[in-house]
Amino acid sequence: MSNYHIETKCIQDGYEPKNGESRVLPIYQSTTFKYDSSEHVGKLFDLTEEGFFYTRLANPTVDCVERKITSLEGGVGAMCTSSGQAASLIAVLNICSSGDHMISSSSIYGGTTNLFAVTLKRLGIEVTFVDPNASLEELQKAVRENTKLVFAETIANPALIVTDIEKFAALAHNNNIPLFMDNTFATPINCRPFEFGADIVVHSTSKYMDGHAVALGGVIVDSGNFNWDNGKFPGLSTPDASYHGMIYARDCGKAAYITKARVQLMRDLGSAPAPNNAFLLNLGLETLHLRMERHCSNALAVAEYLEKNDKIAWVNFPGLKSNKYYELAQKYLPNGSCGVISYGVKGGREAAIKFMDNLKLAAIVVHVADARTSVLHPASTTHRQLTDQQLIDGGITPDLIRMSIGIENIDDIIADIEQSLNKL
Ligand SMILES: *Cc1c(COP(=O)(O)O)cnc(C)c1O
Repeated sequence: MSNYHIETKCIQDGYEPKNGESRVLPIYQSTTFKYDSSEHVGKLFDLTEEGFFYTRLANPTVDCVERKITSLEGGVGAMCTSSGQAASLIAVLNICSSGDHMISSSSIYGGTTNLFAVTLKRLGIEVTFVDPNASLEELQKAVRENTKLVFAETIANPALIVTDIEKFAALAHNNNIPLFMDNTFATPINCRPFEFGADIVVHSTSKYMDGHAVALGGVIVDSGNFNWDNGKFPGLSTPDASYHGMIYARDCGKAAYITKARVQLMRDLGSAPAPNNAFLLNLGLETLHLRMERHCSNALAVAEYLEKNDKIAWVNFPGLKSNKYYELAQKYLPNGSCGVISYGVKGGREAAIKFMDNLKLAAIVVHVADARTSVLHPASTTHRQLTDQQLIDGGITPDLIRMSIGIENIDDIIADIEQSLNKL
């Protein structure tokens, strides 16, 4: 890993071509790799030699992107997955099994809420959702004997709550369990949760990291800081019969968690990214630092414009001085939060829909965090599977418009909003 500044890491880290090799990260569009002897392949399986044998487990293109993201987050290893959902699932299953319990902030992405509340429950893993603003004492009450992890989002999608990472890290570490942070909205450009005590970071790379809305993907990053050999995580501290008796916490050093995720769960679940998608993700990462800067400054300008407009009922953006999370954002996201804002148009649900339908530049899409300005009504789209109570717990009101501010010229973005507001 380099000691470059983060902007340089975005461009330079991960791939180091040797003399005469392709300057740009090549796409290894191959499921398999050739070796001269069975003995050599055996060593690869034993992890005594490094190399690639099957793209489900590792691929040279994907590997370079994983190295870059490891460097950006400041971890010891990373594993890319086919989607953000797959990253969250594998991250949890790597240390939880039937009969276990975990704690999650109630303010998280709707897809993750469903994964935790419905699918994990069916697998026998129970999740307690907690108010991210509760005190440490309050949060402690949710901890049980069989609690294995604490999960939260740096900036919650779509509620835009900024999580007090140090408080959640204290909750986790007071109980000898790790803190997992979904850092999708902040990206490592604006926040690196390991610096505040998080142990594992997950991302949907489908958002800012890709940045162009071309490739689904996810990633799990291991800080290497958590001690898994404390009696609570037998999957890491006792022999894995399915991997010839390997004891990850003993045999894999700081990279125990991420090694297990790959050689056991990626092997068995197979949610591997396509090499071509990893190539596209790498292109996105090369400009992540530039794009985040513009996303954040454009979003702040739009938020300030909306705050002064009398057709707007409320504006939520952690970069606004009036925002409840401004102080936390200053602490954890001093260079900017993200490009997503939410607001309500006076007149409720009906006015919101009319306003959205009259936008010209901002398109209605089920996506956020790419180069184009887009808009969405979560209550009737992404979050429609959730009950009203789950919506409110997640900080979403029925009139909430989520706008993902792109990197177009700010005057054009505001002019579009203005012409549509004028039609109300
Ligand atoms: C989109 C998103 C996910 C899910 O990622 P996919 O790539 O769509 O599977 C998880 N967490 C957050 C915060 C997201 O925004």
